[in-house]
Amino acid sequence: MSTSILWFKKDLRIFDHKPFLEASKNALVLPLYIFEPEILESEDYDPRHHKFINESLKSLKIELEKIGGYLHVEHGSALEVFQKLRSQTSNQIRIFSHVETGNWISYQRDIHLKKWCKKNTIDWVEFPQHGVQRPIKNRDGWSYEWNKSMNEPIIPIPINVKFESHQKKFNLIKEKNLNKKVTHKIIQKGGRGSAERLLVSFLNERGRNYVKEMSSPLTAMTSCSRLSPHISFGNVSIKEVYQTAKKKRDLLKGVKGIGFWRSSISSFLGRLRWHCHFIQKLEDQPKIEWVNMARAYDNIRENDFNENYFEAWKVGLTGYPFIDACMRCLNETGYINFRMRAMLVSFASYDLWLDWRKTSKYMATQFLDYEPGIHYSQFQMQSGVTGINSIRIYNPIKQQKDHDPEGIFVRKWVPELAKIPLEYIFTPHLMSDGFQEKYSCVIGLNYPAPIIDHNLQVKKAKNILYKIKSTSEAKSEAKKVYIKHGSRKKPNQRKQ
Ligand SMILES: Cc1cc2nc3c(=O)[nH]c(=O)nc-3n(C[C@H](O)[C@H](O)[C@H](O)COP(=O)(O)OP(=O)(O)OC[C@H]3O[C@@H](n4cnc5c(N)ncnc54)[C@H](O)[C@@H]3O)c2cc1C
Repeated sequence: MSTSILWFKKDLRIFDHKPFLEASKNALVLPLYIFEPEILESEDYDPRHHKFINESLKSLKIELEKIGGYLHVEHGSALEVFQKLRSQTSNQIRIFSHVETGNWISYQRDIHLKKWCKKNTIDWVEFPQHGVQRPIKNRDGWSYEWNKSMNEPIIPIPINVKFESHQKKFNLIKEKNLNKKVTHKIIQKGGRGSAERLLVSFLNERGRNYVKEMSSPLTAMTSCSRLSPHISFGNVSIKEVYQTAKKKRDLLKGVKGIGFWRSSISSFLGRLRWHCHFIQKLEDQPKIEWVNMARAYDNIRENDFNENYFEAWKVGLTGYPFIDACMRCLNETGYINFRMRAMLVSFASYDLWLDWRKTSKYMATQFLDYEPGIHYSQFQMQSGVTGINSIRIYNPIKQQKDHDPEGIFVRKWVPELAKIPLEYIFTPHLMSDGFQEKYSCVIGLNYPAPIIDHNLQVKKAKNILYKIKSTSEAKSEAKKVYIKHGSRKKPNQRKQ
């Protein structure tokens, strides 16, 4: 009998897990997770991710034990671990896993591992996940294939699995042993149970007004699904989320007075498609982690990096209350909603003119749901370097007026501003000296004056970007980017 090494990566579940089903056919299964030093030490890995992974691994171990199995955890480079496991068994080994569309480190690791497998005639059987397709020539027909994969039957947990009687180790690495600074305070808990509860509560209650309430950070915290870290680390498959949401929408069909609820679910389903659409971009061009999709925009920001601006942006001390509140919320909780993420990046890329390659790495550490394919594609899009997306610049004061008009969110996350009158909550630096003293918010002492002038900076940024956009070189590149990455949906089908 052969041994199937079931390699869990960012798919920490056993439900709807094709590699597990296939691995268990006529073979002994060895369920494996590897803590790889290259990944733990990388600049986009944060203790918050580690905590979430540890919790997910504990949950996965319990799931496996329920069916008579175990989870074996190794520390080391993937190649070394597979070499060791191979030497410890007399059986022929095969490796089963999902395809990973990850950062450059995981991409390189997979290339080396594939070479080793080939050289040693070891089968490494990979299965697609997230509806991401490998390989594709261009985006024609992508949505059709995605829909097809989302509607395939859910894969049950295999039964009567025979597990390899391997020495079992379950040594997790403590967060504090990573030697990285812990900045999170209250982050979401990893594991299958939390994912299931969120899905149920979102579809049955929290998500009723999703469309109306997703944009403000005040309401998004509860009205958005909050499933993103669970999807990123695979506590739940995107297919399971998709099919459960679709069933709920069907149940609501014809029920009077709740049309808004059905449209909320439709909008949510659309976002699940975006999830995969963005990951597909990294799958098709792994270098977009640091290379502009449209090369015409190369060298526009690289030499202007202002460390002081970067620091102020990272810690939420820019003098723009909404920017600071959103950043501080993200730093402590690992979450901020989509619109606010876009605003934070817009501020960094246009107002502060910071290179997205550096700001994206910082935010990768702060987003608990860090998913490289979505992350770098969104960063490029919100920084105006894809060539195919319109340049969207967010005005932080307008965003605050629209989404936190009473100053509730700002007062919560920027306590220096807690006492100031509402009329100054958008522009505290305009308070008189007397008011600054009275409300214990002296500008320059307790809270900074705006570090830049938004209108002035945006004017400069637009001048540079539109000048490039109008060149024939940029236009011809935009066409190529569209063929490779562009959504084939009509513009009115892909708003936001
Ligand atoms: C600069 C920037 C970086 C981002 N980086 C990430 C990232 O690293 N990981 C990540 O999961 N999302 C990322 N997003 C997308 C989006 O902000 C989050 O997916 C969403 O806020 C997660 O919250 P939720 O689960 O409550 O989302 P919901 O609104 O409930 O959406 C459900 C799911 O759909 C997907 N989704 C929602 N919005 C988007 C979107 N705009 N693009 C792609 N997929 C989407 C996510 O999987 C999400 O969990 C980024 C957005 C921006 C602007």
